[in-house]
Amino acid sequence: MTTVAVIGGGIGGISVALALRQLAPDSEVMIFEASDRIGGKLATISVGKTRVEAGADSFIVRDPALIEVLERTGLASELIEPRVFGGLVSLDGHLAPLPTGTIFGVPGSLRAVAAAPLSARGKARAAAGLLRPGSLRGPDVAVGKWVTEHLGDEVLERLVDPILAGTRAGDVNEMSLAAALPTVNAAARKRAPLLTTLKAPKVRPRFLTHRDGMSAMAEALAHASGATIRTSSTVTSVEAQGAGYLVSTGSETIRVDGVAICLGAAQAAALVEGVAPLAAGLLKEMRSASVAAVAFSWSKAVELPSGSSGILIPSSNAETLSAATWWSLKWPHTGDDFVIRAFVGRAGHHRALDLDDEALASAALDDLKRHLPHLVTPENYSVSRWPSGMPVYPIGHHEHLARFEAALGRTPGLVVTSAAFRGSGIPDVYLQATSAAARLLGGLRPARR
Ligand SMILES: Cc1cc2nc3c(=O)[nH]c(=O)nc-3n(C[C@H](O)[C@H](O)[C@H](O)COP(=O)(O)OP(=O)(O)OC[C@H]3O[C@@H](n4cnc5c(N)ncnc54)[C@H](O)[C@@H]3O)c2cc1C
Repeated sequence: MTTVAVIGGGIGGISVALALRQLAPDSEVMIFEASDRIGGKLATISVGKTRVEAGADSFIVRDPALIEVLERTGLASELIEPRVFGGLVSLDGHLAPLPTGTIFGVPGSLRAVAAAPLSARGKARAAAGLLRPGSLRGPDVAVGKWVTEHLGDEVLERLVDPILAGTRAGDVNEMSLAAALPTVNAAARKRAPLLTTLKAPKVRPRFLTHRDGMSAMAEALAHASGATIRTSSTVTSVEAQGAGYLVSTGSETIRVDGVAICLGAAQAAALVEGVAPLAAGLLKEMRSASVAAVAFSWSKAVELPSGSSGILIPSSNAETLSAATWWSLKWPHTGDDFVIRAFVGRAGHHRALDLDDEALASAALDDLKRHLPHLVTPENYSVSRWPSGMPVYPIGHHEHLARFEAALGRTPGLVVTSAAFRGSGIPDVYLQATSAAARLLGGLRPARR
């Protein structure tokens, strides 16, 4: 029987275990998780009398593969959509609605341009850019460079930056177009007008969460994988031994046929070091931003701009806050207290995250009050920190990744899958983990498969 150690009990590790169950039902899979709970950044907590997420709150419905596994495991009927949807962006001291029909702020149609909070000059510039081919040739470029040159500085500063800075903690002037906006990059490299190649969704995207919280979804998926789950088990080293590997925690060493490392780049590097030092070095060069989410609660409902689910803050505002979600409008089933969730942390700006919890919450609240002047002091708050929790894809990320994959290719039966590679959203992590599981099995000696 094939034995596999999955290191990391986040959605990446759980997804590898689920895929192994499908591909090699007879294999014995163990998930090693450092903390005392499964789920990683799928982590449901409480603030006041309301349940809230410390990490991811939902996932986009885009790839059928994740939906299929949720159906197969009986979870699809437990999933619900947000009650409200629609972001506002803080511009010129006001909150303006973001248009639908964009790809991370890049307008996909003249209708999206017309509805965007741009000046007449900005709209004319964006429309002209959409009517031309994307004009991109050669190596990867920064999101900021291509968007400014092709669609104008207003599209960058008023649409793309607030979305990418707010949801990815990234700096648009350093972020890879190919890695951060792959569909835009592909369209920009075609010879037809962008308008015909961008293919932005015409309807608003659908998001789903588990009615009992994302931890419940992680636990149910982990259970469905049939893997043995070892919580409070930090893996400290992985070494090659014959055709297999030795996996050590502080208290034991076990021998397995295959290993899947499902961690952030820096954490994975520490474990890859003993087997593939070149690959470990390339992992160490990958970058990430630290972020925090602060959930504030009130016993009475808070007055908020109607029809919206939250705000995004452009980098140029230089606020502690990068985004906020009207949690209780979005997910009213989660409890009696009214909750707003604020996000802090941007690439290259770590100062706010050095503050202690009280000072960080206070700084985030001060910024919230700029946008919601009637906000009174909350009764409770909870700070969730994610050090190096948001991968940042710099220019040339895919080329770097190709070098890493080539270096790791010399370790059959050992795979690394990570949000640091090809997308950090839950569906991206799921897809990468599924193909990592297939690669792992493909690398095992025939007798071991
Ligand atoms: C604040 C925040 C909000 C987000 N919101 C969304 C969202 O709404 N929708 C969305 O799609 N995505 C969202 N994301 C991104 C998404 O949550 C993550 O990319 C994804 O959950 C990462 O999963 P993972 O399994 O790769 O890593 P993780 O969830 O980080 O799991 C890794 C696990 O490995 C464990 N571990 C670490 N070292 C070891 C070791 N040596 N041995 C054993 N175990 C170890 C850790 O304890 C952890 O549990 C958000 C991310 C953050 C930080």
